[in-house]
Amino acid sequence: CGVFGVVGVADASNFVALGLHALQHRGQEAGGIVSYDPTDGFQSARRFGYVRDNFTSQKIMETLPGELAIGHVRYSTSGNKGPTAIRDVQPFFGEFAMGGAAIAHNGNITNANALRRELIERGSIFQSSSDSECIIHLMARSLQRNIPERMEDALRRVEGAFSVVAMTRTKLIGVRDPLGVRPLVLGKVGDGWALSSETCALDIIGADFVREIEPGEMVVITDKGVESHFPFRRLEPRFCIFEHVYFSRPDSILGGRSVYETREAIGRELAKESPVEADLVCPVPDSGTPAAIGFSLQSGIPYAMGIIRNQYMGRTFIEPTEQIRNMGVRLKLNVNRALIKGKRVILVDDSVVRGTTSRKIKEMILDAGAKEVHFRIASPPTAWPCFYGVDTPQREKLLAATMSEEEMRDHLQVDSLKFISIDGLYRAVGETEGRNDECPQYCDACFTGDYPVRPADQIDKGFEM
Ligand code: 5GP
Ligand code: SF4
Ligand code: MG
Repeated sequence: CGVFGVVGVADASNFVALGLHALQHRGQEAGGIVSYDPTDGFQSARRFGYVRDNFTSQKIMETLPGELAIGHVRYSTSGNKGPTAIRDVQPFFGEFAMGGAAIAHNGNITNANALRRELIERGSIFQSSSDSECIIHLMARSLQRNIPERMEDALRRVEGAFSVVAMTRTKLIGVRDPLGVRPLVLGKVGDGWALSSETCALDIIGADFVREIEPGEMVVITDKGVESHFPFRRLEPRFCIFEHVYFSRPDSILGGRSVYETREAIGRELAKESPVEADLVCPVPDSGTPAAIGFSLQSGIPYAMGIIRNQYMGRTFIEPTEQIRNMGVRLKLNVNRALIKGKRVILVDDSVVRGTTSRKIKEMILDAGAKEVHFRIASPPTAWPCFYGVDTPQREKLLAATMSEEEMRDHLQVDSLKFISIDGLYRAVGETEGRNDECPQYCDACFTGDYPVRPADQIDKGFEM
């Protein structure tokens, strides 16, 4: 998901709509905005579909007045799978002591089932099936004297990954979980402030990137400025390494590094680790593009757009059902036949999850008359599900959960298939010594099975680590 908030500028909701549009790659199912204005109070609009189709008309933006607003773009990783219900669309708003609050959450709460059971027993009335709603109920029940302290109280009970943007009648609040699994950044816009999942959304509203919110940090922003707290026990950070590989936009800055440059470096590492003789390096667009450029630069093999992406299709993986995903590949990608015929082709993609994309692409490339097909993948094999806000399927559906690299090559029937090593990936994100196995610098659980937060709900349901 993507979260965004603005305080201290006129018509804040317009800025939020723009910010959410720049974060659309983080969630395409639905979006919502909540605003606050002293005359109109809290106002909210939540819609299915793209930001550009919902939050551009004057008619709707007029209903969201004020100098304070937050928003969310949704990609379902918890709660009801399949079509999102409108009640599951964030931000969530709750009225309770001291005026209430609205929250937008990116990540996944790993003890949400247990919390929800407990809260319901004690009388909370849930409106949605989303894990994030627990935060509002915990806040409503807290006995603290002000909303930021209630939020600290609430979040100390929550386990897992959370980057939260929240608002009261006067404050914009941003928090990251102690490991800092999901991103969150602070920007300055005119006399006001912005919080965003990624820097690319600050650019779109002309805000200056100030800094990242630190893991475990809470910032409370009012017209007086930014106050910072550290309400949790300090832990060694474990940022999601897959944000660098796939999830974030290439024009964002993560941990002081351009995502684009990191991806290009991954491609270079791949070319060093697993070279192969071929005529062309082609990305599987768009997610494989920077890595393919890196591979080409390192190997000297020409880069070419052998697969053309239909710009009117979104991210296929994020479509929740198998059927749509299957069709999705063909709706989205087409082979540039004239270029491919008779060639030995290296295809670079960011990841292999179920193998749907790679299988279809290989068929399409061979149909077009390629002589050889070599896959190079910009992440290690995805062998474990993510429980922290990226929607990987159950373990059984992951190709790498049951097959070795060679078995996957066989299954996909390609001439070669190589994944970047975990140390190669760490080098590409700037860890020159590779992964520190004693104290890993990132979350990489989907590749290693080393889960930095115990996925309690999943273990209750029988998941074995
Ligand atoms: P597959 O087709 O193997 O199931 O999925 C791999 C493709 O899904 C890649 O092309 C990758 O770009 C895309 N993808 C989109 N979203 C995600 C995600 O959340 N996780 C992973 N691992 N891959 C994703
Ligand atoms: Fe990121 Fe993978 Fe960790 Fe999920 S399991 S947070 S995708 S590194
Ligand atoms: Mg892709």
